Amino acid sequence: MIPVIALVGRPNVGKSTLFNQLTRSRDALVADFPGLTRDRKYGEARIGNQPFVVIDTGGISGDEEGIDHEMAEQSMAAIEEADVVLFMVDAREGLNAADDSLARHLRQRNKPFHLVVNKIDGINEDVATSDFFSLGITSMYSIAASHGRGVRQMIEDVLAEFPPEEPREEDEDYYKSIRVAVVGRPNVGKSTLVNRLLGEDRVVVYDQPGTTRDSIYIDYQRNDKDYTLIDTAGVRRRKNVKQTVEKFSIVKTLKAIDDAHVVILVMDAHEGLVEQDMHLLGHCIEKGRGLVLAVNKWDGVEPDQRDWIKTELSRRLVFAEYADTHFISALHGTGVGHLYKSINAAFDSATRKLNTNALTRILEDAVFDHNPPMINGRRPKLRYAHAGGQNPPLIVIHGNQTGKVPASYQRYLEKIYRRELDLVGTPVRIEFRTSD
Ligand code: GDP
Ligand code: GDP
Repeated sequence: MIPVIALVGRPNVGKSTLFNQLTRSRDALVADFPGLTRDRKYGEARIGNQPFVVIDTGGISGDEEGIDHEMAEQSMAAIEEADVVLFMVDAREGLNAADDSLARHLRQRNKPFHLVVNKIDGINEDVATSDFFSLGITSMYSIAASHGRGVRQMIEDVLAEFPPEEPREEDEDYYKSIRVAVVGRPNVGKSTLVNRLLGEDRVVVYDQPGTTRDSIYIDYQRNDKDYTLIDTAGVRRRKNVKQTVEKFSIVKTLKAIDDAHVVILVMDAHEGLVEQDMHLLGHCIEKGRGLVLAVNKWDGVEPDQRDWIKTELSRRLVFAEYADTHFISALHGTGVGHLYKSINAAFDSATRKLNTNALTRILEDAVFDHNPPMINGRRPKLRYAHAGGQNPPLIVIHGNQTGKVPASYQRYLEKIYRRELDLVGTPVRIEFRTSD
């Protein structure tokens, strides 16, 4: 599973700078979730072929009171969620009482951590780092986050303990059971839906143990099909242990999406599409996951509001129009059974083996109907296509000058392939290879 790195340290040591370096200033994946403060940012990053999640925290000042106290809590929560912690200090400021106290905190946590001496640009590195030896932390890196110096090497080192997994896509067993993740913001009705999805049928469940950071995996059968429900809301755990509400966790949600074939994104009809829904949706699309949208609490929506909500949603969801949208009431069970039809269709589409001859024939027809536009007097020539992978389906198209095919034409091909192959509920990726 994708490793998680937390950045902690006093304010101003350079955490945000490093965060931005690592995520290449792509916006934080998810910001400002209710129940989390603005001080915790999550981003996805990649070094080589190793993806990881990085969490930026507000910072810990040492004497935690008031706002500082809240910041410290956030940092502690981030440490809890992380696999490994980068404890950042400022080479220019030198050792500080707050650093000492944070080091003590970290030792008590039983979580692997490394000391990162930042801002070593333009100063004597040996002198700067020697100041921090007294912390007694043997694993130490010195970097200049703002210049990117030492960053790549450090991350490669830190991640060496987490070797990338074999691509699951090549594992036959991975397709035996349809892996469905139920995700969404706090309070949209995930737990209620999970209970419904399971309660509908005679479910043979065996829970796989996990920490509070992990989702619960629930295997069951429905109409002779095998499913694995990835429950981010922790319903089963709650039933068995204690009835406390599961804490919403971004890391858990991201991991669940990564690990699923099909994601059910649950939204609240009363609130419409909020920014946080869009973040999660963006992540599902980027990951190429099968997708089903469940607009929940439909029972509470006045009939004269319904058309308006539907119109508004389809307007804002044009970029995810491949996904089926269901208007459901998890509370009453209305519409829940229909979700399975979309789940199955998305899974079948996402994992179908595509035939080279068919792909090439569809390409020829598409080009015959509508040629790619000329660029500088030359027209890209698209010759043949073959399947490049599944989940999501990848179609590789060979030809000349394919680098000049405009994005609009690529979308045209996507649309044709989707229609001709009857692919629903999954993104379709197209990749061009050029032979000139
Ligand atoms: P945070 O509060 O820990 O998130 O710290 P920031 O990332 O906001 O950085 C605080 C200040 O330190 C900013 O003015 C940064 O430009 C500066 N800074 C961060 N990294 C470096 C570095 O490697 N070298 C230098 N010289 N300044 C840095
Ligand atoms: P979670 O935090 O996403 O797991 O959300 P819960 O399943 O705990 O639900 C949050 C609240 O919304 C609870 O009070 C539920 O009873 C309520 N709720 C869930 N689904 C529905 C629904 O379809 N209709 C209505 N009216 N309330 C619902």
